[in-house]
Amino acid sequence: SNSAPASAALYDRARRVMPGGSTRVTIWWPPHPPYAASGQGCRITDADGRVLLDFANNFFSLIHGHAHPEIVAAVTAQAARGLAFGLPTELDVALAEEICARAPALQRVRFCNSGTEAVMFAVKAARGATGRSMVAKMEGGYHGAYDPMEVSFDSGPSNWGERIPAAVPYTRGTPASVLDETLVLPFNDWPITEALIEAHAGRLAAVVLDPLPSRVGLVPGTPEYLQGIQALCRRHGIMLILDEVVCFRLHPGGAQTLFGLSPDYTALGKIIGGGQPVGAVAGTAEAMAVFDSTLGHRAIVPHGGTFSANPITMAAGLTSLRLLTPEAHARLDLLGERLRTTLARGFARDGIAAQVTGAGSLFRVHPHTRPIAGYRDALATAAEASWLKEAFGHLLAHGVLTTPNISGALSTPMTVAEIDEAADAIIAALRETA
Ligand code: PMP
Repeated sequence: SNSAPASAALYDRARRVMPGGSTRVTIWWPPHPPYAASGQGCRITDADGRVLLDFANNFFSLIHGHAHPEIVAAVTAQAARGLAFGLPTELDVALAEEICARAPALQRVRFCNSGTEAVMFAVKAARGATGRSMVAKMEGGYHGAYDPMEVSFDSGPSNWGERIPAAVPYTRGTPASVLDETLVLPFNDWPITEALIEAHAGRLAAVVLDPLPSRVGLVPGTPEYLQGIQALCRRHGIMLILDEVVCFRLHPGGAQTLFGLSPDYTALGKIIGGGQPVGAVAGTAEAMAVFDSTLGHRAIVPHGGTFSANPITMAAGLTSLRLLTPEAHARLDLLGERLRTTLARGFARDGIAAQVTGAGSLFRVHPHTRPIAGYRDALATAAEASWLKEAFGHLLAHGVLTTPNISGALSTPMTVAEIDEAADAIIAALRETA
């Protein structure tokens, strides 16, 4: 676009070398996104010199914002000592210790490079531990790009005649066997969930559960629902995999501490890498024994990875988690609460037919006022979705970056001033596009 000539020129180049001119589906919108040039604290400067207040934080992974001086120092110091080795380092031991100190069910850790891989290896571990192959996940839920985890992601209203969700393929050519091996559950609908798990218990290796699933609506599972699933898993020898790739930031001890859960496996990512590419599977010593490397490739689930536990990621993650004290968490939670409350009051005051969900330092705006318990309630109509898209564009034009569905995560450099600035901008964007 003319108002952003540098980004437009970069997009012109990108279109010649990337399909659609993009390498991430999540950060393309018309006519093209602004290109980032640098970031400092909670602000990004784009290629055209515009400054954006950043609530996307690279999809919730940058809990300390951009270029935190201690993280920069740790990364640069490590870079000078070597980027990666075909050997372990003290840093991977230290980050594993840091994670294991945070909750009783986090007793052993294996690192990988993304949340996708974390969930994938947790599923493989559960299959190895149980000798079963079927996995259950929530309708509409996102857990990364592993085939079984994509089933029913963003499935829309295609099968809504039934209360029982269908195993809807996400990408063309998904093997029928993957659909057969994936059980789709309706989030927060306990009677159906219980019946479905009971009916497939003998085949189920794992239930993959995100207690605050963003694509399902960013509403928490009720205590009855979360505890019910855990109890049912225990009763039937099904592994409980908690996806904390995003929601680990809800509490110093992770979402499992907040919700009182004790999963067999926890998939981690995002903030534990301090802004660098990361994933990890953590779990009980017993459950994690399937990865035992002393058995080499005869381990039940051999796991490696060229860049797994690379020292740059480990240094960034370790510094980031050490900075994330209980006080820092409490402050982020208060700011998050302030943002959600201010938005809700503003929507009510201005008669805007929107609502905000979330918890802790996470929020999501919905372009309707229907009560949300799960995916089907949360899903916007086509008209509502296009309003939200327009509001996102308006918000960005006014210097506030969220994800394209107006969800976001706070970072520790933010203060009340940035929270109120964002709340005003979001309310104005929705009001002026309504
Ligand atoms: N699980 C959840 C809940 C996620 O939100 C995401 C990514 N947004 C993933 C897994 C996959 O993580 P990654 O993008 O690092 O592969």
